[in-house]
Amino acid sequence: MINVLVVDDSKFVVHAMESILQDLQYHVAGVAYDGLQAIEKHMDCAPDVTLLDITMPNMDGLECLCKIMESSPDARVVMLSAVQDQDTIAKCLESGAVGFLQKPIRKGNTDDLNRLCAAISRALEGAKIR
Ligand SMILES: [Mg+2]
Repeated sequence: MINVLVVDDSKFVVHAMESILQDLQYHVAGVAYDGLQAIEKHMDCAPDVTLLDITMPNMDGLECLCKIMESSPDARVVMLSAVQDQDTIAKCLESGAVGFLQKPIRKGNTDDLNRLCAAISRALEGAKIR
């Protein structure tokens, strides 16, 4: 099973993503609500892929991404954000994110679910799944 860490400051988004991922047969290995928590959780649960929000309190997704990549260079992180600013998206990809998913991912929306599955598959290409 593919282990996913979900990071978002919105509890609503975290709960929705947990439900969506479970429906799609992914295993939610952990959740976090800001960048600081995400670093801890990433170390604790060593996920196969992390879905990481950008706009968050305490530590934003970009800084969190950089810290995760520093300590775990093989980490597979997909940004999941409503951010549309191309510079921010480019910065995330330059900093080691393996993908960018535009929010929202809606439970009943086939296009959204396909985007999600494709992003996770692409993120894991070449990665070893336990
Ligand atoms: Mg946010």
